[in-house]
Amino acid sequence: MTYCSSCGATVSRKVPAGDDHERWVCNSCETIHYQNPLVVVGCIVEQDGKLLFCKRAIEPRYGYWTVPAGFMELGETLAQGAARETREEACAEVELHEVFACVDVIDAGQVHFFFKASLKGGHAAGAESLDSMLVPTEDIPWDDIAFLSVRFALEKYLEDAGDYNGVHFHEVRRSKLVEGN
Ligand code: ZN
Repeated sequence: MTYCSSCGATVSRKVPAGDDHERWVCNSCETIHYQNPLVVVGCIVEQDGKLLFCKRAIEPRYGYWTVPAGFMELGETLAQGAARETREEACAEVELHEVFACVDVIDAGQVHFFFKASLKGGHAAGAESLDSMLVPTEDIPWDDIAFLSVRFALEKYLEDAGDYNGVHFHEVRRSKLVEGN
């Protein structure tokens, strides 16, 4: 953050009175600009033992495979966000089941939630995808999965093997797969 969104003046990192965290504080109007984690929501979509994947047409991780997921919008529920992202990225309608995975992505300031879901009808690449595919679980493209949170959700989904075993929690520093990580 460089400028105050209230008055346009410059901002500095300061611990406001009565607070215990550094915040961006306006040097002119003294507005405190709080920043909090963003919610990403998506789903593992199954049909006849196959899972739905989308190939990303946007950065980050252009060309890598992921499951339908994205930032929640204001005014929608977690479930509506998961269904909307699936519609946008895979042109697919789903029946949502349980939230079964939650991943804190600390350095990105994000929390990722994943639902289990069933595909109702067909699928196709949406505007943010190069391709979409349904693959048997033994053919999951593990080496080309875009995000650590998605890899974790897929692993837990397979471990659950059709049952609901509660929410699996996980914590990673950053979202992308990098060398030695
Ligand atoms: Zn200001």
